[in-house]
Amino acid sequence: MNNWRDNIRQVVPYTPGEQPKKAGMIKLNTNENPYPPSPAVQQMLRGMSADILRLYPDPTAGMLVNALADHYHVDPDQVFVGVGSDDVLAMAFMTFFNSEKPIFFPDITYSFYPVWADVFRIPYETKPLDENFRIQAQDYHGENGGVIFPNPNAPTSIMEPLGFVRDIVEHNRDVVVIVDEAYIDFGGTSALELTKEYDNLLVVQTYSKSRSMAGLRIGYAIGHPDLIKALNDVKYSFNSYTMNPFSIVLGAETLKDENYFKDCMEKIIHTREWTAKELTRLGFTFPDPMANFIFATHPKYPAKELFQSLREQNIYVRYFSLPRIDNYLRITIGTDEQMRTLIDFLEKYVHYQA
Ligand SMILES: *Cc1c(COP(=O)(O)O)cnc(C)c1O
Repeated sequence: MNNWRDNIRQVVPYTPGEQPKKAGMIKLNTNENPYPPSPAVQQMLRGMSADILRLYPDPTAGMLVNALADHYHVDPDQVFVGVGSDDVLAMAFMTFFNSEKPIFFPDITYSFYPVWADVFRIPYETKPLDENFRIQAQDYHGENGGVIFPNPNAPTSIMEPLGFVRDIVEHNRDVVVIVDEAYIDFGGTSALELTKEYDNLLVVQTYSKSRSMAGLRIGYAIGHPDLIKALNDVKYSFNSYTMNPFSIVLGAETLKDENYFKDCMEKIIHTREWTAKELTRLGFTFPDPMANFIFATHPKYPAKELFQSLREQNIYVRYFSLPRIDNYLRITIGTDEQMRTLIDFLEKYVHYQA
């Protein structure tokens, strides 16, 4: 009886950050951008007709692919787009990680990696970050079926230099190396230029954080045309029309407004520096932040209790109940005003508890 249950694919799904919709809440828990998309996007959205929805979208998402190719000075056949970088990364796992050997990624990193490995039955080995939460390049020199890591890493916000990425790619010419650059625009140096030298390097980025468009679900990968062709072959074996017409059009449009984008990045970096200074003043410590979040711990106040107290104030940050990081909070950088409210609360908290 009920034998069909034996044939179910058993997976433990990824747990996304909460998306509560509370009036007046300060949402610093899923690394979204506090600023709206470019005014050019808002204007185009107003001018769009619902008739666009009657037809299937362009399966190649050509307008978006071409806009990205122009923007990054690569050929369109070096660009793959997907429904958020989660989709791009899932496709990349399926396409490139088919060895019997384990793929390597850090023990503390984006927690979707082990989920994709499980769902696609890809063997994997995690490599521990050192005591300062740094990825150790030499851990990735051994034989493997592929390598993936975010740069900057999440949830640590630590950025490794280009030479570090080069070292890992250099030692892994027989497998595909994926660098997940979800947070690269917040002051980091992209590994994109290395894709010219290394045909086995795939760089993945997203509109969800820096481009204020998490709701449109746009991610992309840039690499050698052979990598991109392989990704497209798998994608078209799954679902041809993955990108909706709004994402294609608005995703292309926003790339034209580089000034607005740069202003946003500067504001967030500036707010990050202010927040870091204030957190330090209150006794918090954290690795040097290079993403739009700070990964902070306090020697006196347990992160879990802080997390709960912040929640009661309608301030949402992210807490991970995981080995080694269960005394840390990942705090997204919001507006100056939001961060001021956070710091004011923490200041009172520290005084009251002292
Ligand atoms: C947010 C994030 C992603 C996925 O973002 P999408 O919204 O699917 O583009 C991928 N990798 C890391 C490290 C992230 O933090």
